[in-house]
Amino acid sequence: MAVCTRFAPSPTGDLHLGGAWTALASWVWARREGGTHLLRVEDLDSPRVLRDAEERILEDLTWLGLDWDGPVVRQSERSEIYEAALGTLYRKGLIYPCDCSRAEIARVASAPHEGEELVYPGTCRERDRARGMRRTPALRVRMPDEVVGYGDIIQGHFEHDLARDVGDQVLRRGDGVFSYQLAVIIDDVASHVSVVVRGADLLASTPRQIWLARTLGAEPPRYAHVPLVVGPDGTRLEKRNRAPTVRALRKAGMSPERVVGELALGLGLAETNEPITPAALAKACAGRELPWRKEPWRIPLSLVAHS
Ligand SMILES: [Zn+2]
Repeated sequence: MAVCTRFAPSPTGDLHLGGAWTALASWVWARREGGTHLLRVEDLDSPRVLRDAEERILEDLTWLGLDWDGPVVRQSERSEIYEAALGTLYRKGLIYPCDCSRAEIARVASAPHEGEELVYPGTCRERDRARGMRRTPALRVRMPDEVVGYGDIIQGHFEHDLARDVGDQVLRRGDGVFSYQLAVIIDDVASHVSVVVRGADLLASTPRQIWLARTLGAEPPRYAHVPLVVGPDGTRLEKRNRAPTVRALRKAGMSPERVVGELALGLGLAETNEPITPAALAKACAGRELPWRKEPWRIPLSLVAHS
């Protein structure tokens, strides 16, 4: 079967280098084998969605030389599909309402490792359904006491204990917004994505998405997590120290081929930072094992100075 990958930006701002990094990796992955590349806009969290952001991201991708097959998929137009999946899980007895506040969860929950997200302790699992809810409840899924193992094509083998490391996930928030985890796996399965190429910051999402796919009766895709993009000094990119946007590089007079050349070197797809088009890169990568990097990529100063 032909390979199918996707790029899935959130329209919450302009495309930055971290986004371009993932987009290029995903695009080359498919195009070097003549496969399909899809574009999906993850616009469920409407308070954070910016008007025009989608249009600007699409423009910047096109400027870089990246394209996609078929129409752009928008998550905001797919609520019925997510609702139906939630119904399937409900009929399996896996969904329960939860009206715990963030503060209440923080008081009783434990984080599996320092700095990681809290694992919900299951407070509302066995609550009396007849009891009134204090607020519109979120809907959680009962995670089994089960270990999910998977082989990431770039990062290697991982095993996660769903009950201990993940806990019962919110699939629909109290305000009606479907969770990222639910929407993403449903979309990946529905659009027949065969390899999910995305940033290593989403590694922890993978076991729960694999479990959700299987529980919904679908075969999950394979995963390839590209390394994180960090600042020139090796520190994490925070709000204050953000990756330059593609638009800023473009305004500063940089050519798309130069940006792609730097990204290709960083990803391990090229041996130099010679300017190159994505199409030429895909051709150069065809028919060989790719030496993907695993270490975080430090944005070169040449790109920062321009923005
Ligand atoms: Zn609760």
